[in-house]
Amino acid sequence: MDNEQEKYAELWQLISNARHLVVFTGAGVSTLSGIKDFRGKDGLYNQPDTDKMFDIDVFHRDPSLYYGLAKDFIYGLKEKQPSVVHIVLAELEKRGMLKALITQNIDLLHQKAGSKHVIEIHGSPEEHYCIKCSYTTDFETVAETAHTGAVPYCPQCGGTLKPAITFFGESLPARALTEAQSECEAADLLLVLGTSLVVYPAASLPQVTQHSGGKVVIVNNQPTYFDSAAALCCTDLEQSFEYLRAQLLNG
Ligand SMILES: [Zn+2]
Repeated sequence: MDNEQEKYAELWQLISNARHLVVFTGAGVSTLSGIKDFRGKDGLYNQPDTDKMFDIDVFHRDPSLYYGLAKDFIYGLKEKQPSVVHIVLAELEKRGMLKALITQNIDLLHQKAGSKHVIEIHGSPEEHYCIKCSYTTDFETVAETAHTGAVPYCPQCGGTLKPAITFFGESLPARALTEAQSECEAADLLLVLGTSLVVYPAASLPQVTQHSGGKVVIVNNQPTYFDSAAALCCTDLEQSFEYLRAQLLNG
């Protein structure tokens, strides 16, 4: 067995022995499904205007900028498929081995894979709301219009519909953040997947687990500030989760 294989075996042992396993996922998990990483080398934010895409002031001035850029990236998500990571995490939850899944991603792929307890700390396009009245509607309904790049409007008052994604200039959803923190506190094992842990307060979640005596495992293709404090670090998400899938199938 080479070094990486030994690490995967150790990862499986840690997961099998955990009493309260919590997982925290970032953009690296979406990338496996062909969704562009916001901040990577070929990231969405490196294209013109995309830094303004999730700016709340820009949205209020001109929502067509968001909807124009989001037509494929968000509203074309129907065509994207869950990766081995999404699938294995859903299976772990189904078997009662995973208690909570915290994500920074806004692509709904965990839900599509079958995960039920998903805590979306950057909000979610699952719900859209009117910026003028209390009207709310779901992703499917808005996507019919937004998939073409057109701005969707409220059928009650004509106001612009906004996704319940947290934009720059908005606060993170307080309830989701509180729940994420209490899950990390309860976790005896936290798996951090596909995030470089640079954005606070998300970056502080591994510390919450560590302070309450839990172990942290990091799987990411780049180093993070927490690596030296982690019980285990792996670099290849796809390979490590193919290994876990094989263990689940054999088990
Ligand atoms: Zn309205």
